[in-house]
Amino acid sequence: MGTSVENPTEVEEPRESVEEQAEPVEELDEETRARRDAALRQVRKLGDPVLRASAVAVERFDERLRAEVQRMGELMQDALGVGLAATQVGVLHRVLVYKAYEDDPVSALVNPVLEWESEEREVKEEGCLSLPGVHVEVERAARVRVRAQDTHGRELVVEEEGLPARVIQHEMDHLEGVLILDRISREARRDAMRALREAREADGDGPARTSSAERTTAPAQ
Ligand code: ZN
Repeated sequence: MGTSVENPTEVEEPRESVEEQAEPVEELDEETRARRDAALRQVRKLGDPVLRASAVAVERFDERLRAEVQRMGELMQDALGVGLAATQVGVLHRVLVYKAYEDDPVSALVNPVLEWESEEREVKEEGCLSLPGVHVEVERAARVRVRAQDTHGRELVVEEEGLPARVIQHEMDHLEGVLILDRISREARRDAMRALREAREADGDGPARTSSAERTTAPAQ
């Protein structure tokens, strides 16, 4: 579960964006695409107030929690994402899942608390399953140490760097109701909102629809 990268020189190239995979849509086979679209429909999009809410600490580590985490992991993978926060599926629990690299297992953090972050920062492009079509450069700490619990309530400490560190910070933001739009300049936000609108229009939804059931466009890259 979420150990640090042991040999940074040998890790595979990070995907270009967090949560939204960089793979061109046309390379996905029909079944993968259908599964991804179905998963994306279950992810709350910008405009849904739950994305702006603060999640509450989990106190019951029961089968229900484990089922919820299981479902989040499956949804994240079906959506071809690298991370997902509970608030994105309308659950106000302090829970996140991530899987930065293809060969990694799905990791889950319950009640994550940032214990330490490096002074070293990195600027990289991120996307968000809740913001179809949006890719923006976001500055984050290069390394983080997070104290959390697993789905049985056991304490765990996770140290990550690079992409997994970025994903964790992105998802922890979600648990506070913070989106990548809040971490960029006003100009970048204006461009992002335009991309979001275009993605929605391209998908035939029109700009006004913000319900959780809305369809999303394909990842922009
Ligand atoms: Zn996100």
